[in-house]
Amino acid sequence: MPTLNFAVLAGDYIGPEVMDQALRVLDRLARLEGLSLAPVPADVGGAAIDRHGKALPESTLAVCQKADAILFGSVGGPKWEKLPPKEQPERAALLPLRKHFTLFANIRPGILYRELAGASPLKNERIPDGIDIVCIRELTGGLYFGLPKETTSLPDGDLRAVDTMVYRRSEIERILETAIASARSRRRRLCSVDKANVLETSVLWRKTATEYVARKAPDIELSHMYVDNAAMQLVRNPNQFDVIVTENMFGDILSDEMACVCGSLGMLSSASLGAGRNSLGLPFGLFEPAGGTAPDIAGKGIANPCAQILSAALMLRYSFGLEAPASRLEGAVRRAVSAGARTADIAFGGPSVGTAAMADAVIAQL
Ligand code: NAD
Repeated sequence: MPTLNFAVLAGDYIGPEVMDQALRVLDRLARLEGLSLAPVPADVGGAAIDRHGKALPESTLAVCQKADAILFGSVGGPKWEKLPPKEQPERAALLPLRKHFTLFANIRPGILYRELAGASPLKNERIPDGIDIVCIRELTGGLYFGLPKETTSLPDGDLRAVDTMVYRRSEIERILETAIASARSRRRRLCSVDKANVLETSVLWRKTATEYVARKAPDIELSHMYVDNAAMQLVRNPNQFDVIVTENMFGDILSDEMACVCGSLGMLSSASLGAGRNSLGLPFGLFEPAGGTAPDIAGKGIANPCAQILSAALMLRYSFGLEAPASRLEGAVRRAVSAGARTADIAFGGPSVGTAAMADAVIAQL
């Protein structure tokens, strides 16, 4: 029986609430699929600051290093907002994890079920069948990490700040590889988003995408789009896309826009895949909901656990190579929603159930 070794970093506010339910669902799935689960919990974020004095204690990092994947909740919230920026839970936990494991590929499925079309700010006639796209964002390069990155005082008393946008061809090819694999599992259409009419990095990005796809993936239909147009097209007709691949900052903005057009954050999962391989020879990854800790609803038992459950499905697929159980889990969430189970964020004022009952509905559909 395959054993799944993964770290469980639930985090703060609704993090532990939705994580408990995701683990309950995973436990049932494992029994049905003949899998053995070995989750190892560890403190992260504000909870870790309170208990260990820092958002990512060495003990937590050690747990992650021994694991084949990290199932992450979310971190941060009002309790720790007064800390200096460098000690804030998100910055002091997630960024070091990304760096330590070189989590360079952020995969965000933008999925909105037809039944939940009302959750989208888009008019229903634009998305009669819901939305089904993927945004793949380069996560460790570009403007957020390039050097120099500094603010200097000038002799005339003015202040000058610099950020540096920098990419190597090998970094672009690495993220293209992830995007091609994703497109191959879907409709084989890849849209590379850049700003090649203005930015030097984008010129290299576009040239690399064109050459690499022609050489390595002639079966993939590649298109290019400027980022400003992509922002408009996501609102006009999101389903014209299949897989979007783009650099760090563009992806940061576009993936949040995509989350918005897809309705509730409570339904959206994400995967961040690392450059390294786990003990199974598959990508090490961190899997987490697209949303945050939702302090406004924490402690009430009403948070939607689906994003966390769907993040667990991504973990099964990418870090454990278990496509069939991953699809089974995703299908169960879809059928639970189709059958009418709704937490408040997707109930549009109609009857709703709590976090545990939503997980029960998913378990019933497994
Ligand atoms: P948020 O995503 O936590 O919440 C935005 C809105 O979405 C809220 O109304 C919330 O109730 C709702 N929501 C989010 N997840 C939901 C769920 N599972 N079920 C139902 N409703 C849900 O964003 P925010 O309020 O801007 O941030 C709150 C805290 O989370 C901040 O401290 C922020 O720094 C942190 N945060 C952490 C991460 C992370 O850990 N990766 C990501 C984003 C924000």
